[in-house]
Amino acid sequence: MPNIRFQALRAVLDRQIPEVKTPSHKISDYFGANVFDKQKMKEYLSTEAYNGIVNSIDNGVPIPREMAEQVASAMRSWAMGKGATHYTHWFQPLTGTTAEKHDAFFEPTADGGAIERFSGDALAQQEPDASSFPSGGIRNTFEARGYTAWDPSSPAFIIGRTLCIPTVFVSYTGEALDYKVPLLKTLSALDKAAVDVCHYFDKSIEKVNASLGIEQEYFLVDIALFNARPDLSLTGRTLFGHMSAKNQQLEDHYFGSIPSRVYAFMQDMETEALQLGIPLKTRHNEVAPSQFECAPIYEEINLAIDHNQLLMDIMDRVARRHNFKVLLHEKPYAGVNGSGKHNNWSLITNAGKNLLSPGKTPKNNLMFLTFFVNTIKAVHEHADLLRASIASVNNDHRLGANEAPPAIISIFLGSQLNEVLDEIDTSRLSKKIKEENSLWQGIPKIPQILKDNTDRNRTSPFAFTGNKFELRAVGSSANSASPMTVLNLIMADQLKKFKVDVDKLIKKGEKKDVALMTVIKRYIKESRNIRFEGNGYSDDWEKEAAARGLANIKTTPKALDAFLTEKSEELFADTGVFTKREVHARHEILLDSYYKKLQIEARVMGELVMNIIIPAAIAYQSKLVENVKGLKDIGLAADTYEAQLDIINQLATHINFIKTNVEQMINERKKANKIDDLRDRAIAYDETVKSFFQPIRYHVDKLEQLVDDSLWPLPKFRELLFIK
Ligand code: ADP
Ligand code: MG
Repeated sequence: MPNIRFQALRAVLDRQIPEVKTPSHKISDYFGANVFDKQKMKEYLSTEAYNGIVNSIDNGVPIPREMAEQVASAMRSWAMGKGATHYTHWFQPLTGTTAEKHDAFFEPTADGGAIERFSGDALAQQEPDASSFPSGGIRNTFEARGYTAWDPSSPAFIIGRTLCIPTVFVSYTGEALDYKVPLLKTLSALDKAAVDVCHYFDKSIEKVNASLGIEQEYFLVDIALFNARPDLSLTGRTLFGHMSAKNQQLEDHYFGSIPSRVYAFMQDMETEALQLGIPLKTRHNEVAPSQFECAPIYEEINLAIDHNQLLMDIMDRVARRHNFKVLLHEKPYAGVNGSGKHNNWSLITNAGKNLLSPGKTPKNNLMFLTFFVNTIKAVHEHADLLRASIASVNNDHRLGANEAPPAIISIFLGSQLNEVLDEIDTSRLSKKIKEENSLWQGIPKIPQILKDNTDRNRTSPFAFTGNKFELRAVGSSANSASPMTVLNLIMADQLKKFKVDVDKLIKKGEKKDVALMTVIKRYIKESRNIRFEGNGYSDDWEKEAAARGLANIKTTPKALDAFLTEKSEELFADTGVFTKREVHARHEILLDSYYKKLQIEARVMGELVMNIIIPAAIAYQSKLVENVKGLKDIGLAADTYEAQLDIINQLATHINFIKTNVEQMINERKKANKIDDLRDRAIAYDETVKSFFQPIRYHVDKLEQLVDDSLWPLPKFRELLFIK
């Protein structure tokens, strides 16, 4: 049987670039063509039904049954006009991916014929037999009913021949089983809290929504090479591999010209995404070889997250047409950069005002400062929860490793805003305002165009970037709903507290603006610790952060504890976002997936070592032994085969080390599997089972360097990392 690595390399050499067709040269001609958006609703619905649904989308008003009937029928006509034969409720279970189960529109009739039908009921609610989705014990399998319910705030779309309807997924007893339900709950809590605070400044504001722009990083690898690496295909990352001599050290890939094969993939992927209404705007090469990024224009947060989930799916499907595999894993290759998903977040009013955008007038500046400082305070109060929301087995490899933010949550503001906050902190502002009886003089000027738009700090996990905060610690494969639910939630809670604090002072007789400024000043002082402008990648920061008392929790099982603290439980209960049962269920699901993923990695590692790596090393060793025997036979002196003997010995050392350690790892796994408590089991996997990975890998990578290249069965980093 020929070496699978060489078969794969051969296949790569023969690749042709598929021709990419776009519906038109003008994106505006086909943007959103496969989405049942407001424009199409207007076309397909009566004015009454259209107004009803728009009202429901904008204000969360429930849709009456007759109206659902009309919408369903309109959706079906539109979808069938575009060739759709099936429909599905599209939802986001806690597996992290999206789920769908297709049903045909067609129904047989009594006379032996058939018609196409799609009822309001089928649109509004479905009951997938979804007993195998994680529920953290909320749904026993004998009571497996889970419901999907239409989320009209995210428009339906067509993929292939299927009409997809974004839905929430809840249990029979009403508990959330997905990512969308809690997100939507936090949005209404945030809306209410933010509008209340807005009313200090502007009574006309009726609604505040969070907006989100997600930058998505990913790697591409040829599908043949991917398939020749069982570790990549089963775990999403390479468990072995000696670093390529050339990797990212010349920094020649970042923003470099895009290879033609990749360019064709990007165009194809963008065309599909744009037709699905995903406003992809930016594409470029990232830092690591074969690493790329795409970013859409920001949107309302619920839609932005649906679009990102959909995008990950599209990327994967389109990549296959181009003989690529998209790697969304946070750390597919040790030693070069990992991938993240920067979450750019801000708050925008119904009038389109960005509350995190510094204003022109002092009054607007006070409003900006209010939301700005409250965000800092919220993150300061609940940094542990934010950390927990981005925790995963994959992200553990990335946080604190090559060019990724550390596991310490801190906030970067940029020098100008830092100075503004320091000025407020150290000034005797409120007194000055009182004495001069002039409301606005005490507020420092905030420049409209912030210099830090350019001199930004890329090492910070949470950075202010001109008119938005950017959470950079989110993993590339994550569902952004998890961290965004937490961010919205802690912000909602913080704004509520802010209002209580300000109202207290007003009640005591303070002027409104003095009261606002007094509380802002206090918050600045209280949250000072979390602000950090320096290099987040440095060892010094780890030390300083420890001295400041900031948490630096490096692994998931312990980071997840933050969900169950008294403080968090209070927060969830106050805002009604999670019941106690729901939080515990989520915690359990996350721990469960954590240890299972490590278990899979450990198993794959063991199999590869025993069935592929060691046999290859032994084959080479045997060749050397033959050679030595031959040299001896023809009567050569021992010093002529010294090198061969040395290599034979080195091979033996590595083979023995690997084999013993794999056996020990298997024993540890057996022990860990017997631990009943899920958190303890996850920690055992982290601290014992996982601790074998690095040493085993080290010796396997040594073998890779020693063994005859023609006998090595796994594609090497130098082959995986560069696209021909
Ligand atoms: P980079 O961070 O790579 O320099 P940009 O500053 O252009 O990129 O923005 C990255 C993302 O932030 C884009 O998706 C963009 O639409 C989004 N963005 C810009 N303004 C806002 C905002 N006010 N709220 C949320 N996202 C925003
Ligand atoms: Mg960015």
